[in-house]
Amino acid sequence: MHEATLYVVATPIGNLRDISERAIEVLGRVDVIAAEDTRHSGQLLHKLGVSKPMFSYHEHNEQGRGRQLVEKLQAGQSIALISDAGTPLISDPGYQLVRTCRLRGIPVVSVPGPSALIAALSVSGLPTDRFSFEGFLPRTPGKRRALLERLVDDSRTLVFYESSHRIPHALEDLRQIFGGDREAAIARELTKRFETLLAGTLDALHAGVSQDVNQQKGEFVLMVAGRRDDDASMPDLGRVEARRLMRVLLDELPAGKAAAIAAELLGGRKKAYYRLALELKGDAGDRA
Ligand code: SAM
Repeated sequence: MHEATLYVVATPIGNLRDISERAIEVLGRVDVIAAEDTRHSGQLLHKLGVSKPMFSYHEHNEQGRGRQLVEKLQAGQSIALISDAGTPLISDPGYQLVRTCRLRGIPVVSVPGPSALIAALSVSGLPTDRFSFEGFLPRTPGKRRALLERLVDDSRTLVFYESSHRIPHALEDLRQIFGGDREAAIARELTKRFETLLAGTLDALHAGVSQDVNQQKGEFVLMVAGRRDDDASMPDLGRVEARRLMRVLLDELPAGKAAAIAAELLGGRKKAYYRLALELKGDAGDRA
């Protein structure tokens, strides 16, 4: 391993036994380990019996530290990049470093392993043939709702990371915007002692999580089934017509009333027109 190479190494998301043999071998052979949090990763490396010079590499020093790491690579050293848990670059630092290496012709090699996103999706029971990973939901309610409103018609399974204290709010927004009967799943504390997978409608998940504080603790991946064709209840041909009618109605009426009239006149479900109304208004703040 004398050729300068950046190894992007996945580490466990809870269960230490999920570290791969190859990850241990690479961590033991590189010259330097770049870690998001050197104290946190130091404990993992200690348990693995690996002792190496470590450099912190996180969102606040990505540029400066990235330059230093690239200099080391150009000087012929090999580096392993790890994050606190799971796969680096997946809602974790590393993108700038990998990109710079790629642009400069420095080899970048993947040492794949756990990622909460894939682990969650693989046990969710939701369609996995097409999905969209959306990372963390925005923190502020207005931005969160605006994003969800943009995603409401997406037919792919949507995957979000979310932190524990925001999970009830996220579920509340999801059921308001996607409708309470949309299928969803929450993977909590994957590979850890209190691992749970809740699956059901957004209404059921919201009720389950709100009533049980234990379900609000830990780390979460939130998944929502994509829109099915029959969810929209509007034939494609009807959509232009529907939009035109909704625009006129929305000038005079609130979204709910406008949706009811459109459903009566054009056929289909009121909920679908309601969603269209929100889309047309493009104003998440309205219902805050
Ligand atoms: N790079 C990591 C990966 O590959 O999964 C993700 C890092 S991101 C900063 C941390 C988020 O991932 C958490 O807030 C949570 O949404 C999700 N996550 C990480 N570990 C998890 C676990 N054991 N169970 C459920 N979600 C987890």
